[in-house]
Amino acid sequence: MPAQIHQFPCLQDNYGVLLQDPATGATASIDAPEADPVLRALDQTGWRLTDILVTHHHKDHIGGVAQLRAACPGVRVVAPLADKARIEGADLYVREGERVRVGAIALDVIETPGHTSGHVVYHAPEEALLFAGDTLFAMGCGRAFEAPAQVLWASLRKLAALPPETRVWCGHEYTQANGRFALSVDPANPALKTRMGEVAHMRARGEPTLPTTIGLELATNPFLRVDDPGLRAALAMPDADPADVFAHLRELKNRA
Ligand code: ZN
Ligand code: FE
Repeated sequence: MPAQIHQFPCLQDNYGVLLQDPATGATASIDAPEADPVLRALDQTGWRLTDILVTHHHKDHIGGVAQLRAACPGVRVVAPLADKARIEGADLYVREGERVRVGAIALDVIETPGHTSGHVVYHAPEEALLFAGDTLFAMGCGRAFEAPAQVLWASLRKLAALPPETRVWCGHEYTQANGRFALSVDPANPALKTRMGEVAHMRARGEPTLPTTIGLELATNPFLRVDDPGLRAALAMPDADPADVFAHLRELKNRA
């Protein structure tokens, strides 16, 4: 039986995500923006929380951890080792190359410094699922708060190399604003125009635009397309180093 996933809104524009292994009943919350929506989601699904997989230390990703711990005895909190000082009291600290299990679902830890220095994402290769936190968004990426843009770019390259069919769950619903920026720097991209039309319909109906896939991001996300001749031409950077194109894009988006 394939892994079950339940996504729901939290706070202003965060998403909560529950990942359940039907074989064992084990259920993980990917981050915990706030406790109440997670508890309601557990109620609705009838799933029992066994794990919380934390991607990074920001409040809008760990704000609900303490209350969930109190409400769900025995829950295991997994957090990045590099953020040990800022995410205290986790049961397990993980780093690059380690594997976490939620029931029978195996998730590989991938370190993606940039947005924060300790950020990790969780990749379930057998299920082709990626929980990307604030590293990769639909048509965008996180701000490089705690590392140079080049470091974030190296992190994103790891995600871009995952199989294109990989479904990607992200920390926020930023898709429409990201897409508007994407069109401004990659105006001739037909896949991007098509996607923006679809996204407008989804948002008009109040639907989430996530998950996305690695393949769709490779086709439409300017931050993964720094080698594209059309995008480079639009930026007047035809021969620049890819890392510099990325840093320039990140800078433009910060000011957008
Ligand atoms: Zn964040
Ligand atoms: Fe966030």
